[in-house]
Amino acid sequence: MSLKIQNINYKHSSKFSLNNISLTFHNNVTAIIGPNGSGKSTLVKCILNIYKCDGEMYYQGESIKKQKKEFIKQKVGYLPQTTQNDASITVFEAVLLGLINTLNLKVSKKQEQKVNDILDAFELQHLAKNKINELSGGQLQMVSLAQSIIKEPEILILDEPLNNLDIHRQFSLMNTVSSLAYEKKMIVIIVMHDINLTSRYADNIVVMRDGNIYSYGTPKEVLTKKMIREIYKIDSEIYVNKQGKQVIEFVDIAAEAPKYEIVSQI
Ligand code: ADP
Ligand code: MG
Repeated sequence: MSLKIQNINYKHSSKFSLNNISLTFHNNVTAIIGPNGSGKSTLVKCILNIYKCDGEMYYQGESIKKQKKEFIKQKVGYLPQTTQNDASITVFEAVLLGLINTLNLKVSKKQEQKVNDILDAFELQHLAKNKINELSGGQLQMVSLAQSIIKEPEILILDEPLNNLDIHRQFSLMNTVSSLAYEKKMIVIIVMHDINLTSRYADNIVVMRDGNIYSYGTPKEVLTKKMIREIYKIDSEIYVNKQGKQVIEFVDIAAEAPKYEIVSQI
Protein backbone atom coordinates (compact mmCIF):
# COMPACT_ATOMS: atom_id res chain seq x y z
CA MET A 1 0.00 0.00 0.00
CA SER A 2 1.40 3.39 -0.87
CA LEU A 3 0.16 6.87 -1.55
CA LYS A 4 2.62 9.05 -3.34
CA ILE A 5 2.30 12.79 -3.83
CA GLN A 6 4.60 14.54 -6.21
CA ASN A 7 5.40 18.21 -6.74
CA ILE A 8 2.38 19.51 -4.86
CA ASN A 9 2.16 23.29 -5.16
CA TYR A 10 -0.54 25.48 -3.74
CA LYS A 11 -0.71 29.20 -3.14
CA HIS A 12 -3.05 30.72 -0.54
CA SER A 13 -1.88 34.26 -1.07
CA SER A 14 1.30 36.16 -1.72
CA LYS A 15 2.14 35.44 1.92
CA PHE A 16 1.90 31.65 1.95
CA SER A 17 2.45 28.80 -0.46
CA LEU A 18 3.16 25.09 -0.32
CA ASN A 19 6.25 24.52 -2.36
CA ASN A 20 6.89 21.40 -4.41
CA ILE A 21 5.98 18.83 -1.78
CA SER A 22 6.81 15.22 -2.67
CA LEU A 23 6.22 12.39 -0.20
CA THR A 24 5.30 8.71 -0.09
CA PHE A 25 3.00 7.38 2.64
CA HIS A 26 2.90 3.66 3.49
CA ASN A 27 0.53 1.44 5.46
CA ASN A 28 1.87 2.64 8.76
CA VAL A 29 1.72 5.86 10.76
CA THR A 30 3.17 9.07 9.34
CA ALA A 31 3.08 12.10 11.62
CA ILE A 32 3.21 15.61 10.20
CA ILE A 33 4.64 18.13 12.64
CA GLY A 34 5.72 21.76 12.44
CA PRO A 35 4.86 25.16 13.91
CA ASN A 36 1.44 26.77 13.61
CA GLY A 37 1.03 28.19 10.14
CA SER A 38 3.71 25.99 8.54
CA GLY A 39 1.19 24.46 6.11
CA LYS A 40 0.23 21.13 7.69
CA SER A 41 -3.53 21.56 7.25
CA THR A 42 -3.05 23.06 3.80
CA LEU A 43 -1.04 20.01 2.76
CA VAL A 44 -3.66 17.52 3.96
CA LYS A 45 -6.42 19.58 2.32
CA CYS A 46 -4.47 19.40 -0.95
CA ILE A 47 -4.26 15.62 -0.62
CA LEU A 48 -8.01 15.56 0.11
CA ASN A 49 -8.82 17.68 -2.95
CA ILE A 50 -10.42 20.35 -0.74
CA TYR A 51 -7.84 22.69 -2.22
CA LYS A 52 -7.17 22.24 -5.92
CA CYS A 53 -3.42 22.05 -6.08
CA ASP A 54 -0.90 21.41 -8.81
CA GLY A 55 0.96 18.12 -8.76
CA GLU A 56 0.46 14.39 -9.07
CA MET A 57 -0.94 11.71 -6.77
CA TYR A 58 -0.43 7.98 -7.15
CA TYR A 59 -2.09 5.15 -5.24
CA GLN A 60 -0.45 1.74 -5.56
CA GLY A 61 1.66 3.23 -8.32
CA GLU A 62 -1.28 4.44 -10.42
CA SER A 63 -2.16 8.05 -11.08
CA ILE A 64 -5.46 9.11 -9.52
CA LYS A 65 -5.52 12.53 -11.11
CA LYS A 66 -8.57 11.84 -13.29
CA GLN A 67 -10.76 10.29 -10.58
CA LYS A 68 -9.50 12.13 -7.52
CA LYS A 69 -12.93 13.11 -6.20
CA GLU A 70 -14.28 9.56 -6.42
CA PHE A 71 -11.04 8.15 -5.01
CA ILE A 72 -11.20 10.42 -1.95
CA LYS A 73 -14.85 9.58 -1.37
CA GLN A 74 -14.27 5.84 -1.53
CA LYS A 75 -10.92 5.35 0.10
CA VAL A 76 -10.22 8.19 2.51
CA GLY A 77 -11.43 8.92 6.03
CA TYR A 78 -10.78 12.43 7.30
CA LEU A 79 -10.95 14.11 10.65
CA PRO A 80 -10.65 17.88 10.14
CA GLN A 81 -8.83 20.10 12.61
CA THR A 82 -12.04 21.78 13.69
CA THR A 83 -15.21 19.77 13.84
CA GLN A 84 -18.67 21.24 13.83
CA ASN A 85 -20.92 20.53 16.75
CA ASP A 86 -23.94 22.64 15.99
CA ALA A 87 -26.09 19.87 14.53
CA SER A 88 -28.66 18.54 16.93
CA ILE A 89 -28.28 14.88 16.04
CA THR A 90 -27.34 12.15 18.50
CA VAL A 91 -23.91 10.57 18.91
CA PHE A 92 -25.29 7.32 17.42
CA GLU A 93 -26.61 9.18 14.36
CA ALA A 94 -23.38 11.12 13.91
CA VAL A 95 -21.31 7.92 13.81
CA LEU A 96 -23.88 6.29 11.53
CA LEU A 97 -23.49 9.21 9.12
CA GLY A 98 -19.87 8.13 8.62
CA LEU A 99 -21.22 4.85 7.28
CA ILE A 100 -24.21 5.80 5.13
CA ASN A 101 -23.89 9.54 4.34
CA THR A 102 -27.59 10.21 4.93
CA LEU A 103 -30.01 9.56 7.76
CA ASN A 104 -33.06 9.10 5.53
CA LEU A 105 -32.32 5.48 4.66
CA LYS A 106 -33.53 2.61 6.73
CA VAL A 107 -30.71 1.34 8.90
CA SER A 108 -29.97 -2.36 8.70
CA LYS A 109 -29.25 -4.49 11.77
CA LYS A 110 -25.71 -4.96 10.48
CA GLN A 111 -25.13 -1.19 10.23
CA GLU A 112 -26.61 -0.69 13.68
CA GLN A 113 -24.26 -3.36 15.04
CA LYS A 114 -21.28 -1.70 13.40
CA VAL A 115 -22.11 1.64 15.02
CA ASN A 116 -22.59 -0.05 18.40
CA ASP A 117 -19.28 -1.91 18.08
CA ILE A 118 -17.37 1.28 17.43
CA LEU A 119 -19.20 3.15 20.21
CA ASP A 120 -18.15 0.34 22.58
CA ALA A 121 -14.57 0.37 21.37
CA PHE A 122 -14.35 4.13 21.87
CA GLU A 123 -16.03 4.04 25.28
CA LEU A 124 -18.85 6.21 23.91
CA GLN A 125 -21.80 3.86 24.32
CA HIS A 126 -23.14 5.72 27.38
CA LEU A 127 -23.40 8.86 25.21
CA ALA A 128 -25.13 7.21 22.23
CA LYS A 129 -28.46 9.01 22.76
CA ASN A 130 -26.93 12.37 23.70
CA LYS A 131 -27.06 15.24 21.22
CA ILE A 132 -23.63 15.98 19.78
CA ASN A 133 -24.01 19.70 20.44
CA GLU A 134 -24.10 18.88 24.16
CA LEU A 135 -20.77 17.03 24.25
CA SER A 136 -17.46 18.23 25.64
CA GLY A 137 -14.72 19.06 23.15
CA GLY A 138 -12.93 15.78 23.85
CA GLN A 139 -16.07 13.68 23.57
CA LEU A 140 -16.92 15.32 20.26
CA GLN A 141 -13.39 14.64 19.04
CA MET A 142 -13.79 10.90 19.78
CA VAL A 143 -17.22 10.86 18.04
CA SER A 144 -15.68 12.54 14.98
CA LEU A 145 -12.88 9.99 14.92
CA ALA A 146 -15.39 7.14 15.15
CA GLN A 147 -17.27 8.74 12.24
CA SER A 148 -14.12 8.97 10.11
CA ILE A 149 -13.04 5.34 10.60
CA ILE A 150 -16.33 3.45 10.65
CA LYS A 151 -16.16 2.78 6.90
CA GLU A 152 -12.67 1.32 7.37
CA PRO A 153 -11.05 3.62 4.82
CA GLU A 154 -7.77 2.55 3.22
CA ILE A 155 -6.30 5.96 3.99
CA LEU A 156 -7.00 7.81 7.22
CA ILE A 157 -6.08 11.49 7.57
CA LEU A 158 -6.36 13.08 11.00
CA ASP A 159 -5.64 16.77 11.54
CA GLU A 160 -4.67 17.39 15.17
CA PRO A 161 -6.97 14.69 16.58
CA LEU A 162 -5.40 14.91 20.04
CA ASN A 163 -6.64 18.46 20.70
CA ASN A 164 -9.02 18.56 23.65
CA LEU A 165 -8.25 15.00 24.74
CA ASP A 166 -7.12 13.97 28.22
CA ILE A 167 -3.94 11.88 28.44
CA HIS A 168 -5.83 8.57 28.64
CA ARG A 169 -7.80 9.37 25.49
CA GLN A 170 -4.65 10.58 23.68
CA PHE A 171 -3.02 7.19 24.25
CA SER A 172 -6.23 5.36 23.48
CA LEU A 173 -6.63 7.23 20.17
CA MET A 174 -3.01 6.64 19.19
CA ASN A 175 -3.29 2.92 20.09
CA THR A 176 -6.45 2.69 17.97
CA VAL A 177 -4.97 4.35 14.91
CA SER A 178 -1.70 2.43 15.07
CA SER A 179 -3.51 -0.89 15.32
CA LEU A 180 -5.65 0.16 12.32
CA ALA A 181 -2.45 0.81 10.40
CA TYR A 182 -0.94 -2.57 11.26
CA GLU A 183 -3.96 -4.86 11.39
CA LYS A 184 -6.03 -3.35 8.56
CA LYS A 185 -3.00 -2.17 6.56
CA MET A 186 -4.32 1.36 6.61
CA ILE A 187 -2.24 4.36 5.55
CA VAL A 188 -2.47 6.75 8.50
CA ILE A 189 -1.44 10.39 8.17
CA ILE A 190 -1.72 12.34 11.39
CA VAL A 191 -0.99 16.00 12.05
CA MET A 192 0.08 16.43 15.64
CA HIS A 193 2.18 18.55 17.99
CA ASP A 194 3.24 16.20 20.79
CA ILE A 195 6.77 15.24 19.81
CA ASN A 196 7.08 12.54 22.48
CA LEU A 197 3.95 10.86 21.12
CA THR A 198 5.35 10.98 17.59
CA SER A 199 8.50 9.31 18.93
CA ARG A 200 6.39 6.56 20.46
CA TYR A 201 3.83 5.99 17.71
CA ALA A 202 5.03 7.30 14.34
CA ASP A 203 6.94 5.18 11.86
CA ASN A 204 7.83 8.25 9.84
CA ILE A 205 7.75 11.95 10.59
CA VAL A 206 7.44 14.88 8.20
CA VAL A 207 8.61 18.21 9.60
CA MET A 208 7.17 21.27 7.89
CA ARG A 209 8.37 24.86 7.93
CA ASP A 210 7.02 27.79 5.90
CA GLY A 211 5.28 25.59 3.33
CA ASN A 212 8.33 23.40 2.78
CA ILE A 213 9.50 20.03 4.06
CA TYR A 214 12.29 20.71 6.54
CA SER A 215 13.00 17.02 7.11
CA TYR A 216 11.49 13.55 6.65
CA GLY A 217 12.45 10.18 8.09
CA THR A 218 12.12 7.83 11.04
CA PRO A 219 11.78 9.35 14.54
CA LYS A 220 15.46 8.51 15.14
CA GLU A 221 16.47 10.44 12.05
CA VAL A 222 14.15 13.40 12.50
CA LEU A 223 13.89 14.05 16.24
CA THR A 224 17.13 15.85 16.95
CA LYS A 225 18.12 18.72 19.21
CA LYS A 226 19.06 20.66 16.08
CA MET A 227 15.58 20.23 14.54
CA ILE A 228 13.84 21.21 17.77
CA ARG A 229 16.00 24.30 18.06
CA GLU A 230 15.65 25.33 14.41
CA ILE A 231 11.93 24.60 14.09
CA TYR A 232 10.58 25.45 17.53
CA LYS A 233 13.37 27.63 18.95
CA ILE A 234 13.50 25.41 22.02
CA ASP A 235 16.56 23.86 23.64
CA SER A 236 16.11 20.20 24.53
CA GLU A 237 17.78 17.07 25.81
CA ILE A 238 17.09 13.72 24.17
CA TYR A 239 17.32 10.36 25.94
CA VAL A 240 16.57 6.81 24.81
CA ASN A 241 14.16 4.77 26.96
CA LYS A 242 13.94 1.00 27.55
CA GLN A 243 11.85 0.53 24.40
CA GLY A 244 14.59 2.21 22.39
CA LYS A 245 12.41 5.29 21.77
CA GLN A 246 13.67 8.82 22.13
CA VAL A 247 12.28 10.83 24.99
CA ILE A 248 12.56 14.56 24.53
CA GLU A 249 12.91 16.87 27.48
CA PHE A 250 12.24 20.49 26.63
CA VAL A 251 14.61 22.74 28.55
CA ASP A 252 13.76 26.33 27.67
CA ILE A 253 13.27 28.79 24.87
CA ALA A 254 16.54 28.87 23.00
CA ALA A 255 18.59 32.00 23.43
CA GLU A 256 18.71 34.02 20.23
CA ALA A 257 22.03 33.82 18.45
CA PRO A 258 23.79 37.17 18.91
CA LYS A 259 23.12 39.41 15.92
CA TYR A 260 26.57 40.99 16.08
CA GLU A 261 29.81 40.21 17.82
CA ILE A 262 31.80 42.57 19.96
CA VAL A 263 35.25 42.43 18.54
CA SER A 264 37.00 44.65 21.07
CA GLN A 265 36.06 46.60 24.14
CA ILE A 266 37.06 50.13 24.89
P1 ADP B 1 -0.93 24.73 10.02
O1 ADP B 1 -1.97 23.73 9.81
O2 ADP B 1 0.47 24.20 9.85
O3 ADP B 1 -1.05 25.48 11.32
P2 ADP B 1 -2.19 26.03 7.75
O4 ADP B 1 -1.95 25.08 6.64
O5 ADP B 1 -3.54 26.07 8.37
O6 ADP B 1 -1.06 25.84 8.88
O7 ADP B 1 -1.88 27.49 7.24
C1 ADP B 1 -0.68 27.83 6.57
C2 ADP B 1 -0.69 29.28 6.20
O8 ADP B 1 -1.70 29.53 5.23
C3 ADP B 1 -0.97 30.24 7.36
O9 ADP B 1 -0.12 31.35 7.21
C4 ADP B 1 -2.41 30.60 7.19
O10 ADP B 1 -2.65 31.88 7.68
C5 ADP B 1 -2.60 30.53 5.68
N1 ADP B 1 -3.97 30.12 5.34
C6 ADP B 1 -4.59 29.01 5.79
N2 ADP B 1 -5.83 28.90 5.25
C7 ADP B 1 -5.98 29.97 4.45
C8 ADP B 1 -7.03 30.45 3.61
N3 ADP B 1 -8.18 29.76 3.49
N4 ADP B 1 -6.82 31.60 2.91
C9 ADP B 1 -5.65 32.28 3.02
N5 ADP B 1 -4.63 31.88 3.79
C10 ADP B 1 -4.78 30.76 4.50
MG1 MG C 1 -3.56 23.12 10.99
